[in-house]
Amino acid sequence: MKNLYGETVASLCEDLVEKGFKPFNAKQVFTWLYKKKVYDFAQYTDTSKALREHLSENYVIRHLPISERHVSKDGTKKYLLALPDGHLIETVLMEQDYGKTICVTSQVGCNLGCAFCASGLFEKVRDLTPAEMVLQIVAIEAREDVRVSHVVIMGTGEPFDNFDNVMRFIDIINSPYGMEIGARKITVSTAGLVPGILAFADLQKQVNLAVSLHAADDKTRTSLMPINRKYPIKRLMESLQTYIEKTNRRVTFEYLLIAGVNDSLHDADRLVGLLKDTLCYVNLIPFNEVAELDYKGSEEKQHARFYDRLVSQGIRATSRRELGADIDAACGQLRIKEECDNL
Ligand code: SAH
Repeated sequence: MKNLYGETVASLCEDLVEKGFKPFNAKQVFTWLYKKKVYDFAQYTDTSKALREHLSENYVIRHLPISERHVSKDGTKKYLLALPDGHLIETVLMEQDYGKTICVTSQVGCNLGCAFCASGLFEKVRDLTPAEMVLQIVAIEAREDVRVSHVVIMGTGEPFDNFDNVMRFIDIINSPYGMEIGARKITVSTAGLVPGILAFADLQKQVNLAVSLHAADDKTRTSLMPINRKYPIKRLMESLQTYIEKTNRRVTFEYLLIAGVNDSLHDADRLVGLLKDTLCYVNLIPFNEVAELDYKGSEEKQHARFYDRLVSQGIRATSRRELGADIDAACGQLRIKEECDNL
């Protein structure tokens, strides 16, 4: 039995047509599931009895229970969802003026071991299925009675280390018969897995690509992100040029400001040197302290100086406001507390 939430309109259509049903039946089923939110096949009244029987013999509609919900002073909410095999994953809901953004987790744990990240303290246990990613949105929309407008795949895990499932997840939530989340409102964030970037470029999706850069020189970047040994900055930038050529889309570089590590004006100049001819934005992120790690965030003044230095040299940059830090729901803070409690 397959969870219906793991199907794209295309995959469902293929299955139904093979069994003698009509292509439009797949759209009907999607509408019942995502628009009308009816979870009992018997109530899909505009479909034939044979179709309803086929659905109940081959598919189930199973949701993910929310086991914890934490609300931050700024309104950011963090949820712990329980997977069928007992693992817990975290999902975050942020409210902005322009809508509601959900931060989706793509793996249980993460294998990249970035030195500053709480998620990296735990090795990857497994990839999430497309349904488990879709269900993070479904669960939270139902719990809060809201409609999510933006999705960032920036929770625990490396999306390009779970490439096919993440792409399928994007197709599912992007469908006009389902959640209808526009491609431009979806962002996938990678630590810089070059084969993933190239494969993503080939798909030519209108989805936003963010790259966690965090340093403009190999020595510093490797000390922060071991993946840089495998895919050093030069190779990373080449793959991003290919991405830009193929998609004509701007890349967002995430740059975390860590005191004394990557936040000097010399570092800013190196970043300008690296990015000046690239179609991009830089997103400066304040470091969220993680109890187990020694790194400290840059002082506000240094953060501002770094930002000014980039902007004065023609780099488009934004300074991301941190949401949810008081409930450990900010970037890179996910999961650690609960895991430690369970040790
Ligand atoms: N693996 C992907 C997506 C998950 S991490 C990636 O690396 O992009 C999402 C973002 O949070 C990344 O930019 C990551 O570098 C950042 N991050 C990790 N730990 C952080 C911390 N302690 N403070 C602030 N940002 C952090």
